[in-house]
Amino acid sequence: MALKILDACINCDVCESECPNAAITQGPEIYQIDPNKCTECVGHFETSQCTEVCPVECIIFDPDHVETKEQLLEKYHKLTASK
Ligand code: SF4
Ligand code: SF4
Repeated sequence: MALKILDACINCDVCESECPNAAITQGPEIYQIDPNKCTECVGHFETSQCTEVCPVECIIFDPDHVETKEQLLEKYHKLTASK
């Protein structure tokens, strides 16, 4: 399941550089996560890096993008193969 950023985001810019998939970008008002690029950090790290660094804990699992670990790994392989 991809993660998403809630309105509580304070635009601190800490998470963007932590994402191994470059899934986080600054949106019109707050930072946003591209669900096509977020693998929950599967393939890169044991834990979601963005949630670990966010000072206001505004990054949550997105119930609209539920995926299994296998699907996340497949996404990881597609993302890294195209690099
Ligand atoms: S969980 Fe990992 S891959 Fe997804 S947005 Fe956060 S840092 Fe990027
Ligand atoms: S770390 Fe949290 S508060 Fe900072 S830009 Fe990312 S989502 Fe927003």
